[in-house]
Amino acid sequence: MLTRRRFTLSALTLVFIVNGPNFRVKDLSFRLAAEARASVNQFPPPAVDVRRAPAPEWLAPYREPAARLIGESIASDAAWQRLAYLGDTFGSRLSGSPNLDAAIRWAVDEMKRDGLENVHTEPVKVPYWVRGRESLEIVGPIPQPLVMLGLGNSVGTPPAGIEADLVAVRSFEELEAARERVKGHIVLFNVPFTTYGETVRFRTNGPSRAAAFGAVGALVRAVGPAGLRTPHTGTLVYTEGQPRIPAATVTTEDAARLQRMLDRGTAVRLKLTMEARFLPDADSANVVGEIRGRERPDEVIVIGGHFDSWDVGTGSTDDGGGCVATWEALRLMKKLHLRPRRTVRVVFWTNEENGGRGGLAYRDQHETELSNHVMMLESDGGVFRPRGFGFSGSEGGRVKVREIATLLASIDADAIGPSGGGADIGPSVQQANIPAMALEVDGNYFLIHHTPADTVDKIDPEDIARSAAAIAVMTYVIAEMPERLK
Ligand SMILES: [Zn+2]
Repeated sequence: MLTRRRFTLSALTLVFIVNGPNFRVKDLSFRLAAEARASVNQFPPPAVDVRRAPAPEWLAPYREPAARLIGESIASDAAWQRLAYLGDTFGSRLSGSPNLDAAIRWAVDEMKRDGLENVHTEPVKVPYWVRGRESLEIVGPIPQPLVMLGLGNSVGTPPAGIEADLVAVRSFEELEAARERVKGHIVLFNVPFTTYGETVRFRTNGPSRAAAFGAVGALVRAVGPAGLRTPHTGTLVYTEGQPRIPAATVTTEDAARLQRMLDRGTAVRLKLTMEARFLPDADSANVVGEIRGRERPDEVIVIGGHFDSWDVGTGSTDDGGGCVATWEALRLMKKLHLRPRRTVRVVFWTNEENGGRGGLAYRDQHETELSNHVMMLESDGGVFRPRGFGFSGSEGGRVKVREIATLLASIDADAIGPSGGGADIGPSVQQANIPAMALEVDGNYFLIHHTPADTVDKIDPEDIARSAAAIAVMTYVIAEMPERLK
């Protein structure tokens, strides 16, 4: 549970002014505590060493603009307020929905109001899946409703729903072993969450694997840590040649309960009703805004997130926060009159969640300029307390990025992880071998991922301000330094 802290111009800002950006806040509290202890016995107190991150000489000219970007960002809750407005006003933003269209128009207007340059949309045709009404109930032994969410891109059921007995499995191996019992049944994949990569395959592939043995419906235990009876939606992928059966997610609690009932030998009969269907492909767009480079405008640093979200919650963590934090990086540069040597471009991709067409369209529409993409950064892991960035690229590039990150030691965002990238920048990065980064944060992202609980109150204003600051500094220095990041 996160609590909202009062957000004011803090002692942290003063620390910056006095000590510069290499000072760590935890050093301050350590020093004060040490001084308090020392002062009991000795006056004047002995000098205390304050640890400073080593920073290479070449960074000297960037120290002052970095301190201003960080100071400006953490002195206000502008990013959080903008994210709150986005979620409160437009709600969820599934591809094809009028909500996403309205949010895109708003973002264009707001970017122009911020003074960003070359603000425009780039058209993308997107799949338009709609959930409709849906329900899951235990029919017997005693009728009662369960909490559920249909999986994205699932087919629906006939209007009267499907009714069938339940079979539960804990792995694909158990499914194989139960193949004779699966025909005509609803299959529950009751797989405890370990990591997203490990567990998500039951959501993605489970329905078709069950359909191959004759199942008529599939249920998947929530792909996320145990919450408060929270269902997690997300896409499934139907395998060519297998029957397409309707599929939904149930909560950790309900999956465990259904398992207990079966383990006691109780026959559980379920009724699944879903109106889910695809409408014809819809018009959508990627949103683009820039600060044009003052010397090499053709060389571009791209940062951004995906603007679409699932149709539950308000997509504040996934991925409104990534969009707003990267956008904020440009707004901060503009406000502080920092126009770097190269162009900085923010992109809000569309349709990451159930098609990935925004990232593909960006690659195709910018094919001729991809060789001038110096670096691409995606923020799609939440805007919790930033730790630093993941980086994928050359060893020389990694050394540079590590050095730049020392400018972020004061906000503890100076770690560089082994790999960076994202679903939306992936197609471009692969095609042109572009150095790729991702914001890395400490937070319980998968607790609220794809759930109705993905709302702005889970995000701390200080965390998104620090995330924006980290992105702004990293991006500014890469755009400004004389030699191109390799
Ligand atoms: Zn996302």
